[in-house]
Amino acid sequence: MSLFLNLANLGEQLGATKKKLEHSALIGAYLKNIAPEEIAPASRLLIGRIFPESDARIVNISGAALNRVLENVVGAEIEWSGTAVDFGDAVAQWLTTRNWKPQGEPLQILDVYRTYEEIADATGSGSRARKDELLAGLFRRASVVEAKYITKQVSGEMRVGVSEGSLLDALVRNTEIPAATIRRANQLAGDVGAVAYAAIALGENGLQKLSLQLGRPLKPMLAQSAETVRDALQEIPPPVAFEYKLDGARVQIHKRGDDVKLFSRNLSDITASLPELAVQVRSEIRAQDAILEGEVIAIDAKGRARPFQILMRRVGRERDVETMQQEIPVQLFLFDCLYRDGETFLDKANAERWEILERIAGNVARVPRRVVENVADGENFLRAAREAGHEGVMAKNLQSPYTPGERGKQWLKLKPVHTLDLVIVASEWGYGRRHGWLSNQHLAARDENTGEFLEVGKTFKGLTDAEFKSLTPTLLELKTHQTRGTVFVEPRVVVQVAFNNIQRSPVYKSGVALRHARIVAFRPDKSADTIDTIQTLHAMMEREGG
Ligand code: AMP
Repeated sequence: MSLFLNLANLGEQLGATKKKLEHSALIGAYLKNIAPEEIAPASRLLIGRIFPESDARIVNISGAALNRVLENVVGAEIEWSGTAVDFGDAVAQWLTTRNWKPQGEPLQILDVYRTYEEIADATGSGSRARKDELLAGLFRRASVVEAKYITKQVSGEMRVGVSEGSLLDALVRNTEIPAATIRRANQLAGDVGAVAYAAIALGENGLQKLSLQLGRPLKPMLAQSAETVRDALQEIPPPVAFEYKLDGARVQIHKRGDDVKLFSRNLSDITASLPELAVQVRSEIRAQDAILEGEVIAIDAKGRARPFQILMRRVGRERDVETMQQEIPVQLFLFDCLYRDGETFLDKANAERWEILERIAGNVARVPRRVVENVADGENFLRAAREAGHEGVMAKNLQSPYTPGERGKQWLKLKPVHTLDLVIVASEWGYGRRHGWLSNQHLAARDENTGEFLEVGKTFKGLTDAEFKSLTPTLLELKTHQTRGTVFVEPRVVVQVAFNNIQRSPVYKSGVALRHARIVAFRPDKSADTIDTIQTLHAMMEREGG
C-alpha cells in the first residue's frame, strides 16, 4: 500500500518541469512501484479526474465548502496570500503560516480515493454535513503538500500539467505495448485508470480485453464545428458525406441476438424508456449481432420532427412508458455501423461503414445523406436540411475511421452559432499585458427556482483591450467584496456570450461549465432578470449529451 504523500510529491515534481520525457519517466516509475489496485485510482487522481469519464458520479465540493471545512479543521479563519497560483497553492501557503501538523494515521492512496467515492455517494438530507465530515477527516490527516493536492482534486483545479495525453504517453514509454494499442484501449474504455492498470499490471493481453465488447457502450465519436460549407470543404476535401443533423438524442445500439440495448451519449442504458426501438431493431436489423449508432427524434402525426425538449420527456424516463409512447412517438435514424457478427469496423472508412449499414438496416431509417462534390452542392443540401426543420448538417470524411471519444475534424457540424445572455458576477485582476484591468470575467446564469446567479464559466476573450479597460471602472462601482485577486460585483452587466459547448462541471455549483466562452457584445438593453437560466443551460447540455 502506498502513501498519498508520494502522489502529492510526484505532483510537485511534475509541476516543477515542463519536459515531456521527464514527465513520462517520473509517472512511469511511480505507477510501476505502487500496488496493482492503486494504479487505476492513482492515475485518475494524477490527471485530476476522480472518476472515469463513463462514470456519472461527481465529488462536487464548492469553494465555500472547502473554506468552511478547512477553517473548522484548523480552527482559524483563512487568510489568503496574494501570490498563490490556485486554490491548492493558497491552502498550502496558509497551512504553512499556521504551522500545520497532520494528526492520526498517514493517508494511503486508497483511503483518499474511497473517501472521494463516499463524498460523491452522499446525497439527500444531511449530505452536506456528511460530505464536510468526510473531507475534514482527510484534511486532519493530511500534511501541507497533501492538503494542497486534496484541494486541487476536489476543486477540479489540477494544474500540474498532467493531461490524459501525457499519462498515456508515459504508459507507452514505460511498457512494451504499441502506442496505437494503448490509444485505442483508452478510446474504448473511457477510463485512463483502467488502461494504466491493464498496461502495467496485465500487459498487452490484458489491454486487449479493453477492446470493443458487445453490450458495453463505447464513447461516441464527436464533431468539431465549421462555420460555413466552404470552411467544411476546405477542412475535408470533397467528395465528402453530408448528412442531416437531426436535433434529437444520440443512441448507440448493441444487438446480441434478440437482446437489444440502447445507450445514451453518456453511456447510460436507456432501453427501458424506448422499448419500441428495441423491438424494431430486433426484428429489422439483418445481423445476429451488431453495434449501430443513430439519432432518435420525437415526431408528430405527419412524421415531422418535434422539438428536442419534447423528446427529453421520453429519453431515460421509465414511468408510464406505454402512455408516453402514444403521446410522444419517436423515430430512429441510423448513421453508423461499428460491429457486425464478430467483425469490428472501427478502422474501416466511413464510406464502407455506411455501405454495411445500408445492407443490414432493413426498414430502419437512415439519416438523409448525400455525397457532396462542391460548395453549391453542399449549400443545397444544408438548405434542404433546414427547410425540413432540422438543425443543420454533419460533414463526414468518407475515408475516416471511427475514433471513439474523440472530437476531431473528421466530422464537422454545421449549425447556427448559439449565444447566451449572461451576467458578470465577479472579475479577476489581469496580469502581464492586462495588469491593472479586471480582465477575467466570471459569467453567471440565473437559477429559475431560487433567483440566484450561478457561475457557468470565466473568460477574458472576445472584447477589445479598450472595451476591457472601460469595463474596469464600471465593475469597481458595482463591487460588493473582494478576495485574493477577485472582485465580486452586483449582477448588473449583461453580456452576450458565444461558446463551443457546455459540459457538466464538478466545480461550479450550477453543475455546468461553458467551454471556450467569449464575450461577443455588451447587452445594456437587457437586465439580469431576463438572462438565460441554469435550466436552459442544463437542457442544452443534455442535448449535447455532456
Ligand atoms: P453537437 O451535439 O452539436 O456536438 O453535435 C453532435 C451530435 O449531433 C451527435 O452527438 C448526435 O447526437 C447528433 N447528430 C445528429 N445527426 C447526426 C448525424 N447525421 N451524424 C452524427 N451525429 C448526429
